[in-house]
Amino acid sequence: MSAWKTSATYLAKQGLIRAGMEAVALSRAGRLLPQAAGRGMILTLHHVRPEQGPRFLPNAHLSVTPRFLAQAVEAALEAGLTPVQLHDLPRLLADPQDSRRFVAFTLDDGYRDNIEHAAPVFRRFAVPYTIFITRGFIERTRTIWWETAEALLTGISSFTFDSGAGPERVSSATPVERHHAFARLAGLVHAIDEDEAVARIDEAARDNGIDPVGIVNDLVMTADELRALSADPLFRAGAHTLTHVNLARVDEARLAREIGQSAEAVAGWCGYRPESFCYPYGTREAVSTKTQAAVVEAGFACAVTTRPGVLRPRDRGAPALFPRVSLNGHYQKKRYVEVLLSGIPFIGSSRSSAPFSQ
Ligand SMILES: [Zn+2]
Repeated sequence: MSAWKTSATYLAKQGLIRAGMEAVALSRAGRLLPQAAGRGMILTLHHVRPEQGPRFLPNAHLSVTPRFLAQAVEAALEAGLTPVQLHDLPRLLADPQDSRRFVAFTLDDGYRDNIEHAAPVFRRFAVPYTIFITRGFIERTRTIWWETAEALLTGISSFTFDSGAGPERVSSATPVERHHAFARLAGLVHAIDEDEAVARIDEAARDNGIDPVGIVNDLVMTADELRALSADPLFRAGAHTLTHVNLARVDEARLAREIGQSAEAVAGWCGYRPESFCYPYGTREAVSTKTQAAVVEAGFACAVTTRPGVLRPRDRGAPALFPRVSLNGHYQKKRYVEVLLSGIPFIGSSRSSAPFSQ
């Protein structure tokens, strides 16, 4: 999953993005600038499930409907893209005889709804897909702080929270207060030791009668479900760490454990060592040079970030830093996917050889 921004500025920005996408869709600019589409695109999804009710949904960008997923697949096929398995991309992009444009579908975090709602769509179109598995979620040893925070802030007007300076009362009575409270919890996760922040959010949730592990039970597939899904020839599992921690903020021993032990677990459940890796958060701040080196060292064929962009010929030389484009729950229209696939929104975005170094 990626970063959350919940301010009014962000909501205004969403409106601007939508207006921009509509403008590009209307202009049919993709036909005039075919080179902008590069060699295709890796797409990111999280939850795939029916629409949620009208309530506080700070993670709405991480959830799309099965109908929209089907439209996105159709848009990719109609745009002439060849669906491929993610881990085949380094080899395919390196073939000088091959000029095709590719699309690879990826889903992060191992949500159970992927089995019920996404797999049937991929099956209908015979499109391969990769799901990135976080071992601690499957084993119920790590909670999902952004889901816990959403549950905590739903239906209560205030709660006590200790961010390290002693307990204080946080208001969550109005939509604005809930958004601010969520942003504050997310900010803490990225500011202090992540294990500690997750523990504090879990504690606040439990104080309010919410079971953070129960949320993982509800949302994430079990090891048995993952094993059963492995019978689907279109499915491949990728590794997504042990605890979904920001890898740029842990020491070398933990970095090695997070990568190695998640790959081992996937091998145990699925019967093969995963060939792809997904950096938690995937942002510039979460993918250090050291992190990339550790992933390469672990032998993955490729690793994906959340740096948006189309695949370029030069990406074949940097498979540990593949860009990805999110199918965002706020923009569930087929014509928006057509705009994204055109590559037009990414013209001029950073293309330096090591954009995630820090
Ligand atoms: Zn994730």
